[in-house]
Amino acid sequence: MPRSFVKEARQRVGPKSERIGPIIERLAIEHADAAIALRFRSPLELLVSVMLSAQTTDVNVNRVTEKLFIKYHKPEDYLAVPQEELERDIFATGFYRQKTKSLRGTMRMLLEEFDGEVPTRLEELIRLPGVARKTANVVAAELGEAQGVVVDTHVRRLSQRLGLTRQEDPVKIERDLVRLVPRADWGRFPHLLIWHGRRVCDARRPRCEDCVLVDLCPSSRV
Ligand code: SF4
Repeated sequence: MPRSFVKEARQRVGPKSERIGPIIERLAIEHADAAIALRFRSPLELLVSVMLSAQTTDVNVNRVTEKLFIKYHKPEDYLAVPQEELERDIFATGFYRQKTKSLRGTMRMLLEEFDGEVPTRLEELIRLPGVARKTANVVAAELGEAQGVVVDTHVRRLSQRLGLTRQEDPVKIERDLVRLVPRADWGRFPHLLIWHGRRVCDARRPRCEDCVLVDLCPSSRV
């Protein structure tokens, strides 16, 4: 889009600090069911699911964990089997060698430093082997302790289209979002953008004509 149109569009919708409230309110009504798509019954199952979800779909992870969680209940269980067995059990999620290494390293640290419990603080979660900031953010938010805003491909695309950030790098996008989004909404905000991205604001064909944010979005094509 030419620069003059971008400027004109930004002026039309107004400052992001005034738009963020209505954006969240409308998305919350539109996607009242927005929630994490991974299935888990405990903090440990949540952590394992999120670790396995790298580079694959949530549907695929759920298919694998349905059987996995019948066999593995506590951190010790992931260390009690030979490495090759765990590799086989998570094979279908892809990158199974690296994921097995990360899972076993994480289970060892949980036992040695956290009494076998999953910590809720971001600084502690990112110390676990193979747990990057995004994984830690997802886990902390689901455990009710959101300490940042999860930035995945949908959050990145929608934040840019909605004019909430001009950054490309996920860490810098998160920095912009935590300044803008009220802290109480840090946990649900990414889910709202993810579901809006899946259902309406598609990467290649955004359906602006059906979008509840059309008057708040500088990228609207309507
Ligand atoms: S108006 Fe269009 S570009 Fe903007 S959020 Fe809605 S679907 Fe996406």
